[in-house]
Amino acid sequence: MVQTTASRQSATLPQGSPLIRVEHLTRAIATRAQRTVILDDVTFTIHSQSLFAINGPSGSGKSTLLNMLTGIDRPTSGKVVFAGQELRAHGENALARWRGRRVGIIFQFFQLVPTLTARENVLLALELGGGGGLPRSAWRKRAQDCLEIVGMGAFGARLPSELSGGQQQRVAVARALANDPPVLIADEPTGNLDSHTAHTVFDMLAGLTQRGKTVVYVTHDRELAARAEARIDLLDGHIVGQQNADAILTHAAEVE
Ligand code: ADP
Ligand code: MG
Repeated sequence: MVQTTASRQSATLPQGSPLIRVEHLTRAIATRAQRTVILDDVTFTIHSQSLFAINGPSGSGKSTLLNMLTGIDRPTSGKVVFAGQELRAHGENALARWRGRRVGIIFQFFQLVPTLTARENVLLALELGGGGGLPRSAWRKRAQDCLEIVGMGAFGARLPSELSGGQQQRVAVARALANDPPVLIADEPTGNLDSHTAHTVFDMLAGLTQRGKTVVYVTHDRELAARAEARIDLLDGHIVGQQNADAILTHAAEVE
């Protein structure tokens, strides 16, 4: 479904076919007093199995954009096309099911369930996401495999409070992998880690593209943004810079 022959026609594109196409996306919030535009006419493409950064300072619209990519929030106008299918076409329940299979989400503050062990946190994701097509009898093995992928195979019985920040984020990545989604979406995944830990966790996340995952991450760290194969730079809801993202720059003059 993701691979299409038509998408390989342009030699100038990075490897991988277009997986997520964002077209003229605008998100505005209207109150009686005023209309605030949070994202303004944003157009870009994320290619399959790439490492993609959404870069920009605080308040530039990064989290709002991620919420549109996952269907958590809806555009005011424009659209998100995911593997050829427009997200808006789904109903709320269908969208939640779709999200469970298609996207693994990683948060800045890990968001593990504190009363569950690392393994149980991954098992819970399998429970909620339908098990990634696996029978229930295979879930425990699947959870262990996910913990091993992130280097946490020996820590399955630990509670989040018994793990360091970096280890907790690794478990959160294992949880995001549970249902074997094609896309991982991470909002400032290393923003709450010290710089050494941030880099090792980031390296692990980036390495998942070698396992066929498309990894989309939000950052305000220029160094981490520069690690991506493709990137958009957001400022005040506009794309002001890009690399390998087929983006339309709406306020190009503002790039430093
Ligand atoms: P970032 O993740 O880049 O820090 P956000 O996407 O969280 O930025 O927010 C972008 C801008 O939109 C901010 O100025 C924020 O205050 C505003 N914003 C986000 N959500 C809402 C909302 N529901 N109502 C009003 N303003 C919002
Ligand atoms: Mg944010």
